[in-house]
Amino acid sequence: MNYLQDARQHVLQQIQTACEHAQRAPETVQLLAVSKTHPSESLREMYAAGQRAFGENYLQEALDKVEALQDLDIEWHFIGHVQRNKTKHLAEKFDWVHGVDRLIIAERLSNQRGNDQSALNICLQVNIDGQDSKDGCAPEEVAELVGQMSQLPKIKLRGLMVIPAPDNTAAFADAKALFDAVKDQHTHPEDWDTLSMGMSSDLEAAIAAGSTMVRVGTALFGARDYSQKG
Ligand SMILES: *Cc1c(COP(=O)(O)O)cnc(C)c1O
Repeated sequence: MNYLQDARQHVLQQIQTACEHAQRAPETVQLLAVSKTHPSESLREMYAAGQRAFGENYLQEALDKVEALQDLDIEWHFIGHVQRNKTKHLAEKFDWVHGVDRLIIAERLSNQRGNDQSALNICLQVNIDGQDSKDGCAPEEVAELVGQMSQLPKIKLRGLMVIPAPDNTAAFADAKALFDAVKDQHTHPEDWDTLSMGMSSDLEAAIAAGSTMVRVGTALFGARDYSQKG
C-alpha cells in the first residue's frame, strides 16, 4: 500500500472504532477528505484508494482542482468561509457548501444554482461556543434560519456545521442538542440528516457526540505547507 492508501485505511479504522465505542453503525459517519493546499495528484491518488468526497477551503485553488479532476466522479464540498460575491462559482461547481451562516448567502446560492442541476446541499455553520473570531451564526439564530433556508427552491438544507475551539470537545454535545432541537423548523425534515463536525485531532469525540461527517485533512494527507499561499 502507498502512503495515502495507508493513511485512509487508518482513519477509516479510527472512525469504525469510535463508532463501536458509541454503539453506532460505521456507515452513519462519512469521511470527508480535506485536501486544501495539496496538489491535484494527491487527490487523484486518494480517489484511487476509494475516496469520493473531498473538501476544499480556498475558492480559486478549489476551482483549479475541479477543472483538473473533471474526469473523476468526485463529490466536491466547500468548507471555507463563503464570501457574498463568490457564491456563483460555489453554486455552479460544488455539490455541498458547509460554511453558510447568513440567509443572503443561501438565497444567492439558490438563485445561482443552474436550473438543470439538482438542489445544492448546504450546512448552516453555527458558532457553537461563541468564539470571537469565528464565522457562523449564533445558536439563538439557528431555528429561524432553518425555517427560512429550508424553503429555498434550489437549496437542500442538510444540517449543521461547527468548528469548536481546539480541545472544546464539550461543544460537540451542544451542537448535537441544537441539531435535534431545530429539526421541526425544517420545511422538509427528511433532508435534515447531517452534523458536520470533527477533524483529525478530535474525530472520536465528535463521533461520540453524534457527528455524521468528519472533515479530515492532516491525518489523511500529512501536514499542510502554507508557504505557497498569499
Ligand atoms: C482544514 C479544515 C479541516 C481539516 O483539519 P485537520 O485538522 O487537518 O484534519 C476541517 N474542517 C475545516 C473547516 C477546515 O478548514
